[in-house]
Amino acid sequence: MSTENKAETRGFETEAKQLLQLMIHSLYSNKEIFLRELISNASDAADKLRFESLSKPELLESDPDLRVRIQFDVEAKTITIDDNGIGMSREEVITNLGTIAKSGTAQFLDALTGDERKDSQLIGQFGVGFYSAFIVADEVEVLTRRAGAEKSEGVLWKSKGEADYSIEAIEKVSRGTTVVLHLKDDEIEFAESFRLRNIVKKYADHIAMPVTMEKEDFSMPDEVEEDSEDADEEGKEKAPEQVKEKEFEAVNDAKALWVKSRSEVEDEEYKEFYKHVSHDFQDPLDWSHNKVEGKLEYTSLLYIPAKAPYDLWNREAARGLKLYVQRVFIMDDAEQFMPLYLRFVKGVVDSNDISLNVSREILQKDPVVDSMRSALTKRALDMLGKIRKKDKVKYDEFWAEFGQVIKEGPAEDFANKEKIAKLLQFSTTSSEGTTQDQGLTEYIERMQEGQDKIYYLVADSLNAAKASPHLEIFKKKGIEVILMSDRIDEWLMGHLRDFDGKEFQDIARGELDLGKLEDEEGKQKQEDTEKEFKDLVTRIKTTLGGDVKEVRVTHRLIDSPACLSVDTNDMGAQMRKIMEASGQEVPETKPIFEINPDHALVIKLDTEQDEDRFSDLVRILFGQAQLSEGGQLDNPGEFSSRLNKLLLELSN
Ligand code: ADP
Repeated sequence: MSTENKAETRGFETEAKQLLQLMIHSLYSNKEIFLRELISNASDAADKLRFESLSKPELLESDPDLRVRIQFDVEAKTITIDDNGIGMSREEVITNLGTIAKSGTAQFLDALTGDERKDSQLIGQFGVGFYSAFIVADEVEVLTRRAGAEKSEGVLWKSKGEADYSIEAIEKVSRGTTVVLHLKDDEIEFAESFRLRNIVKKYADHIAMPVTMEKEDFSMPDEVEEDSEDADEEGKEKAPEQVKEKEFEAVNDAKALWVKSRSEVEDEEYKEFYKHVSHDFQDPLDWSHNKVEGKLEYTSLLYIPAKAPYDLWNREAARGLKLYVQRVFIMDDAEQFMPLYLRFVKGVVDSNDISLNVSREILQKDPVVDSMRSALTKRALDMLGKIRKKDKVKYDEFWAEFGQVIKEGPAEDFANKEKIAKLLQFSTTSSEGTTQDQGLTEYIERMQEGQDKIYYLVADSLNAAKASPHLEIFKKKGIEVILMSDRIDEWLMGHLRDFDGKEFQDIARGELDLGKLEDEEGKQKQEDTEKEFKDLVTRIKTTLGGDVKEVRVTHRLIDSPACLSVDTNDMGAQMRKIMEASGQEVPETKPIFEINPDHALVIKLDTEQDEDRFSDLVRILFGQAQLSEGGQLDNPGEFSSRLNKLLLELSN
């Protein structure tokens, strides 16, 4: 007791001050959100208490009506936000308020660009919550006592938002948390009833518990004056009788937003509610609000964020929905309701079929949860499909942020493969010059007569794909090819065999087969050339020996003399790189070397009598083919000296 009784000063972690400054700066034009954040925290605290009190009703003491109360005092220049929620113990205060932006602060600061507009967006994704109090306050006091703790176990936390804070034990009669903001001199305008009421209406109407303010009664000026005298003591603990003397009224609607019907809820309210559940500062891209009745009964409100969070690729990052059971908050980040490839979806699900004392472990095994998960997954996919149909520009924004995550879908969720495939977008040979990626449905609409396959090509970069010699015949015939260059693409295609009844065909894999796109005459001509070049093919194969799996004549090339292709069942280069990078053993595969029988160099090669020159030429063509795939030469020095030898001969 003795040491804890004295005020102790502790430092924030090192980046705190920088982060606070940045936040205050970025949110300068939207200062009033401090109140939204503090009310949001108070509401979370009420949710937690309501949940804990299910098994321990005594936690509610004699004060079961949860609310958050806002008071102000012009003379003392304070605004006080008081809740009777779960409160915090000393340890909780230290972990929750002593560490600004808990995890990944350094990572966050690294991501900052110095561009104010972009950085404030980042702040939004990072969620600074409680610390937004320092936008308007130069000192913040937090008086708190955890529900169920002794009155003597109250805690007073104080900070000027600089390098440190102090913490001391106090006596606190009522449970919950009181936040006292000592306003900066130029922010005193916030200590005003009309202003505060407006902010509460704007940002906290959807909060499911009453946000109360002192009743305004202009007919009794005497009393008002008396009240403001009391208010001098704001922030200090008041005896309950004193509080009772004042009359408070709810300023907000105080009804859980998802319980209302869609027609009752304005877009602005949906947006504010999103900020409350997601801790995101920006508006969502879209949302879907649904009530399900029948065998299962639940309400869901799903949101698609506008921007990817900074930790989208962090496997440990929290994800999932906020779970309520019959309006009672149960847990945050209930990840069982969404598959991993939809981990960016935020929102609320409120079920009537799950038991109130459910735990994460139970959720994992509950068949009710499984059915809800598949219905919610469909709901989210349908929402995305609708955006794509209605507003391609908006969908493109979504795709730029989350497309890579959606591409994980077909592997994870076989049942919804077709739905997910409809959401995919790619660059294609027809989208050149536009920034808009194309969908598979549009590809199929544009397919040529007689075309029965969806052609695609995977390369290391979009530029490498565009320059690939494999495209030559397709360009000549005007057949569209999908160009893939995301790391995940080859893996994705391993899980997508067909779409809308059309098979996918990697144009760098196997022998070129254009099916009905080629006429009989052409096919006959090809067979003839193959016979004609049989000896050359054998000679080349002897020269390249074990470096190739096969040598053959191809008709896919127009301008290039040669190219490499992958055998039908062999692993592609991109996949190989991913596997190797993750330390897995990859079976050795060799390329197929294909030559263009119409190319002057190949025709010349056929007549070359000098075996040395023949071998130099073959090696150079092979090297070029490797390079144009974006691959690396096995022996670049040798390649250069062969090339130089030929160049010298040329200039002699
Ligand atoms: P966030 O709300 O995004 O987690 P904050 O910085 O707003 O981040 O708050 C940090 C933590 O402090 C909260 O997660 C919560 O545990 C605790 N906290 C904040 N305000 C309250 C409150 N009024 N009552 C109880 N706990 C609170």
